Amino acid sequence: MSWETVIGLEVHVQLRTRTKMFCADRTTFGDPPNTNVCPVCLGLPGALPVPNAEAVRLGVRAALALGCTVHETSVFARKNYFYPDLPKGYQISQYDRPLATGGAVEFESPTRGRGRVGITRLHLEEDAGKLLHDRVPDRTAIDLNRAGTPLAEIVSEPDLRSAAEARAYLQTLRQILIFAGVSDCSMEQGSLRVDANVSIRRPGDPRLGTKTEVKNVNSFANVERALEAEQLRQQALLESGARVTQVTLLFNAGTGQVKPIRSKEESHDYRYFPDPDLPPLVLHPTFVSEQRAALPELPEARRTRLIGAFALSAYDASVLTSEPALAGYFESVVAAGVEPKTAANWVIGDVMTSFNQTGGFSVEPSRLAALVNLVREGVLSHRAAKRVYAELGRAADETPRAVAERLGLVQVSEEGALVGWVDEVLRSHPNEVGRYRAGESKLMGFFVGQVMKRSKGKADPKGVQPVLADRLR
Ligand SMILES: [Zn+2]
Repeated sequence: MSWETVIGLEVHVQLRTRTKMFCADRTTFGDPPNTNVCPVCLGLPGALPVPNAEAVRLGVRAALALGCTVHETSVFARKNYFYPDLPKGYQISQYDRPLATGGAVEFESPTRGRGRVGITRLHLEEDAGKLLHDRVPDRTAIDLNRAGTPLAEIVSEPDLRSAAEARAYLQTLRQILIFAGVSDCSMEQGSLRVDANVSIRRPGDPRLGTKTEVKNVNSFANVERALEAEQLRQQALLESGARVTQVTLLFNAGTGQVKPIRSKEESHDYRYFPDPDLPPLVLHPTFVSEQRAALPELPEARRTRLIGAFALSAYDASVLTSEPALAGYFESVVAAGVEPKTAANWVIGDVMTSFNQTGGFSVEPSRLAALVNLVREGVLSHRAAKRVYAELGRAADETPRAVAERLGLVQVSEEGALVGWVDEVLRSHPNEVGRYRAGESKLMGFFVGQVMKRSKGKADPKGVQPVLADRLR
């Protein structure tokens, strides 16, 4: 008998602010430990938090991008627990009155086609510090630079039905947040973190099974692996007649296993209550509608526009909108006069390869357009153009044509030169010439190949064939 997996995700994204949620410390990644701290985020007596207006604005934007209702009044609450990474002894979060509720994300499911995930809520909170186990031998060190970093927690409905689907949803969510400009969503730098709730049940059963929570998975591939491992663990339990108990688990990327860290029975009672230092957060409706109006074009809308305006395939459009920067680059190349499908091929090929390696563009759109035009005019072969492209990033003040000439890649279409190569080839292959003249016309391909070889790829293949046909008559 088969099982159905039910998954809901809690995603924490770091909002792209310069300073922390309730104090003026910087949020820069990678600064020396404990240099961005102050009495507020250290929880010293008498220090008072002040909400970061930019973090609130970005939280509202994220909520609107996900189709949520932003509430005029939301409340900051204290989530109380003791852990060394939490100097105040509580985390400021939002509990029963979150910033926003009730949105949805549409995404492409690998198994079910078009899918939809409900967004239960989005609330604002601050991050904790970081324990470092590898800095001081036999000691745990603590870096409080992260403590107080603004986060939005995005909680989904249990609408996902497989590990692969959870990954696809997460990628779509990440794209939306990047396009909306609210977070850089870098999993490596910890600005996007995922906790997953997982349960399994028999297909058709309306009741939900007992759920477990897999915490802090740090890459898209690992989200999928961790959820698959947990789904198999639950199946094995149920099939052996045992029960699934409510536990929190950690994924070990090395072994591919999930391991319980604590059971819910002994889990904390967080004793939430409204933070007496912070009045309710009240947003003026005008502010919310301004934010809605200022929302940039989101990935879905951009894909639809690229397909409509440039007759791109759904596949090309979805690759180009995987990053806002790529989509922008593509549109600039088209604006510089390149036919859209050709521009898409270049961007999805060579441009994206170097973008993925460096995170930037080494060749401006106008120079790529000039290069592509050399191919269209027959000056360069496509292969030669790829070599010129690789060189263009290093030769910022040279034109594509100059680089092509320097590398000796300009195609020769001038008849005199072509005739020279053709005659040399025909002289050294008298046998094939005889067979061709006797009617073996498919040898034309062989002759063209030989001319290309003799010219070291410089002969314009479109010009070679008529010359050959003429000399072989
Ligand atoms: Zn601080």
